[in-house]
Amino acid sequence: MDDCIFCKIASGEIPSNKAYEDDKVLVFHDIAPAAPTHLLAIPKAHIQSAEEVDERNAELIGHLFAVMAKLSKDLKLDSGFRIVTNIGQDGGQTVGHLHFHLLAGRQLAWPPG
Ligand code: AMP
Repeated sequence: MDDCIFCKIASGEIPSNKAYEDDKVLVFHDIAPAAPTHLLAIPKAHIQSAEEVDERNAELIGHLFAVMAKLSKDLKLDSGFRIVTNIGQDGGQTVGHLHFHLLAGRQLAWPPG
């Protein structure tokens, strides 16, 4: 999508601090980290939000979760972590390209505000 910042990050047009990349997905460090470890995991293909996940992209999203699980082991996030995705205005989504926040490195509050 032309004016999507995460599509531009996925294509390399906008630089990012990458933690993992393959031909289908990218994981990079959030520019405003909310925890000592704060990664964003995205499909390279434009998907608006988790509301758009269906049978056509289920394999891709499964792959993205497998990548996050592998990264959590590589980064030794042994005491736990959180994966969260925000959807729409009430969900707090500010970037309209599906992304999963992977947060770790401190005790995370629950429920969220
Ligand atoms: P959300 O509010 O759930 O849509 O999350 C969007 C996230 O993208 C926020 O945590 C931002 O800090 C992050 N973000 C926005 N622009 C960039 C960027 N250029 N590089 C890395 N992270 C970004």
